[in-house]
Amino acid sequence: MAPPVTIVNVGYRSTNFWVVSAGTSRLLVDLGWPGTMGTMRAQLERAGVPLAELRGGLATHYHPDHAGLAEELKLAGVPLIVMENQVPAFPQLTRWAKPQDHFVPITPAGNMTLAFADSRAWLARIGFAGEILPTPGHSDDSVSLLLDDGAAFTGDLTAPALIGEDDAGRLATASWRLLRERGATRLYPGHGPVRPLRADTAG
Ligand SMILES: [Zn+2]
Repeated sequence: MAPPVTIVNVGYRSTNFWVVSAGTSRLLVDLGWPGTMGTMRAQLERAGVPLAELRGGLATHYHPDHAGLAEELKLAGVPLIVMENQVPAFPQLTRWAKPQDHFVPITPAGNMTLAFADSRAWLARIGFAGEILPTPGHSDDSVSLLLDDGAAFTGDLTAPALIGEDDAGRLATASWRLLRERGATRLYPGHGPVRPLRADTAG
């Protein structure tokens, strides 16, 4: 039988970075702030997570507080998983970075581009039952990791109560609907505590 999945937060500076583990097969969801590789290494060490056991790094979206160390982690041996809707996004992150951020630009070299339809098979290969879903709303490149046990890593997907009556709001509403339909029950957001996904919440 597959080892049970454990989830640890190695976040800092008010952003959550989730290590999802099935035994020693691990995935990092959201990839640190720019210029903070030392902090990330220390956080992983404190949590007892060897960098070499990270089988992939997934950014829920390419904003600085979620993908800031994507390239440095890749150079340290953590494969960068780029979902099909994220390919156009990571060059933009490079364009937005300010020199004082010490952001290492993300290059296409060595990236693993993944189609949503192939995400379940890829996750199964590294020991996880689940899928990666497109969940736009906060940004077009936003994705969520959804495990079959109901755990959903939703990045900055706008909280249902804060969704406005605009195009982004409609996208976010549809994303929540998709997550519910696929069985999400527990949210591991990019900021703030773990919380249940209430079935009766509007959206
Ligand atoms: Zn954020």
